[in-house]
Amino acid sequence: MFKKSAITLILMIFVSFIIFLFLSSSKPYTDKYEKVRQRMVRDQIVAKGIKDQKVIQAMLNVQRHLFVPSSIERMAYEDRPLPIGEGQTISQPYIVALMTETLELDETMNVLEICTGSGYQAAILAEIVREVYTIEIIESLGQKAKILLESLNYDNINCKFGDGYKGWEENAPFDAIIVTCAPSNIPKPLEEQLKEGGRMIIPIGGSIVQELVLIEKKNGKLIKKEVSSVRFVPMVRNDGKRY
Ligand code: SAH
Repeated sequence: MFKKSAITLILMIFVSFIIFLFLSSSKPYTDKYEKVRQRMVRDQIVAKGIKDQKVIQAMLNVQRHLFVPSSIERMAYEDRPLPIGEGQTISQPYIVALMTETLELDETMNVLEICTGSGYQAAILAEIVREVYTIEIIESLGQKAKILLESLNYDNINCKFGDGYKGWEENAPFDAIIVTCAPSNIPKPLEEQLKEGGRMIIPIGGSIVQELVLIEKKNGKLIKKEVSSVRFVPMVRNDGKRY
């Protein structure tokens, strides 16, 4: 009698343990900021006029809080740029969406990004286009972004460390180019590496305030249009001096 109930008890404990193991291993990763991110997209992206569904979906998909230091991850969905170390910043979500939308991207395109920073803009691009090429001059930042992007399984992002002013000749021409640091003039190599019919978005101006300029290459000529005033960190040379 005792033996039978003891066996039943052991069996029940064993079965409960197996069920527990199954449940804990199949528990999906919970994204604690999903609701906050949806609010950010509604209030800061759609409400301010972004219409491209591909951009809106990308902003919903990419978990911005993974791209900022964990000490400030709670601020990741606020309407502002944030520090990412080395004196650099991740751009305000709206500016990321605006620059991305302006490029009129689709899934067939190869895009060059100058200034990887945290890797957030690269992830947004990778959600939409075929291949992303991104260059960062501060190797520690670039390495961190590369590791994060790999861990998120973005196999269409190619990272390079070096001076983005020179572009990425081997993979040119690009359907679109996005520059997220500010030189005082449009870099010649980037002009040359833009495909005929392609678009480039770039902040041009002084070290504090710049004008976001959309450039289209038509019949070999560059047509420029000012989009809005912005504030980006300067594009620098290897010796730290501003371009
Ligand atoms: N797009 C980034 C934000 C870029 S912040 C993001 O989504 O997080 C600007 C970055 O430009 C900094 O990381 C800075 O190191 C980098 N940078 C400045 N000059 C550069 C250059 N000549 N080439 C490549 N990167 C440069």
